[in-house]
Amino acid sequence: MRLTNLFTKTSKTAPADEVAKNAQLLIRAGFIHKEMAGVYTYLPLGKIVLDKIINIIREEMNAVGGSEISLTALQQKDVWEATGRWDDKVMDVWFKTRLASGSELGLAPTHEEPLTQLMKSHIQSYKDLPVYPYQFQIKFRNELRSKSGLMRGREFWMKDLYSFSRTQAEHDAFYEKITAAYLRVYDRLGLGEWTYKTFASGGSFAPYSHEFQTLSPVGEDKIYIHEGKRIAINEEVYNDEVLADLGIARDELKEAMAVEVGNIFTLGTKFSEPLGLTFTDEDGSVKPVIMGSYGIGPSRVMGLIAEHFADDKGLVWPESVAPAKVYLVRIGDQAAITHADELYGELGEKNIETLYDDRDVRPGQKFADSELFGIPYRVTVSDRLLASNQYELTVRKTGETSLLTREQLLAKLS
Ligand code: ATP
Ligand code: MG
Repeated sequence: MRLTNLFTKTSKTAPADEVAKNAQLLIRAGFIHKEMAGVYTYLPLGKIVLDKIINIIREEMNAVGGSEISLTALQQKDVWEATGRWDDKVMDVWFKTRLASGSELGLAPTHEEPLTQLMKSHIQSYKDLPVYPYQFQIKFRNELRSKSGLMRGREFWMKDLYSFSRTQAEHDAFYEKITAAYLRVYDRLGLGEWTYKTFASGGSFAPYSHEFQTLSPVGEDKIYIHEGKRIAINEEVYNDEVLADLGIARDELKEAMAVEVGNIFTLGTKFSEPLGLTFTDEDGSVKPVIMGSYGIGPSRVMGLIAEHFADDKGLVWPESVAPAKVYLVRIGDQAAITHADELYGELGEKNIETLYDDRDVRPGQKFADSELFGIPYRVTVSDRLLASNQYELTVRKTGETSLLTREQLLAKLS
């Protein structure tokens, strides 16, 4: 992408009412735009990052047998009344509205009810199971406080997968499989080192649910981590009984603040029973389907990555989610333009994603923007360097700089 085609502007300051570091930086870099508290627009570079995060999750969900769908945001009341969750006292984050005719609608904060209802048209026999539909969708939640930028939106992206199984054993096997898939997702996002599978409250169908918690000083959750076992316990279930159950002593644990980047949950028949999602088993008996739900917040993950890796110069993206691998800076006149254009073409042919700073602005601004954007590698083409046949390569994360020939540069970036 050429920067002259990018309509967004960088800025030295963020909106005065924005208190979260992730949003401040992403707004200054022109990756997102703040519409109101907890509501953000994704601009071109931000959209690329969000899509890369989504795509990593998509690949891992497909690898465990997921089938991607897209459910509706508009929800009718009846299906939620069947489970009791239309009530604002039960589900306190609803945004509700009305049709012109007067009937009530809601904007989906999650999708257990409509999907369970929908699957009644597709699941009848044991032969139809197990299945794992999932989606990426904007969820709406009227969160009381929304001061953490992308990490707690009132409108935000969620990946939600739902499992439909015949037996508890079949459910448990999938639950283990998707746990491993989640850990792969966080590894690929560059967060593995700081992310723990965390025991949390389970509801009525399992002793625990599991959260994936990433250590962060701005996290809202208190967890107790066991470094040796790479697991943690959420404060909400931190007690002697749970410690005994997990075979852990209190003094082996370290208290830390963390951000919930994912959540997996055994639902049992909580939704299938009230909504009548049943199947006929091999022996002819009719049984409710065993369900589970599995969420990840791509928006929250993007905010967390932005905040976690940033330094005093700006964003620092892990390569797997960066908007491009290379930021190509051009300084100088005709020779620099010709060489930079050529190099841009060559990087393109090698499928090395490049942001080409072909703008007519001061070098200082190009360097400052390249640092604010957080692109992993910066390549500088200048008249001065060309005189000695050299290109400058700077690694964003370490600041390490080297002078290379064109061949060395291309070998290094390939
Ligand atoms: P929290 O405890 O943080 O309020 P939750 O337990 O209500 O979240 P789930 O309903 O399990 O969240 O949603 C699945 C995932 O969606 C969460 O693990 C999180 O990553 C993300 N998520 C939830 N709420 C938000 C939000 N308001 N903004 C951004 N991401 C969110
Ligand atoms: Mg939670």
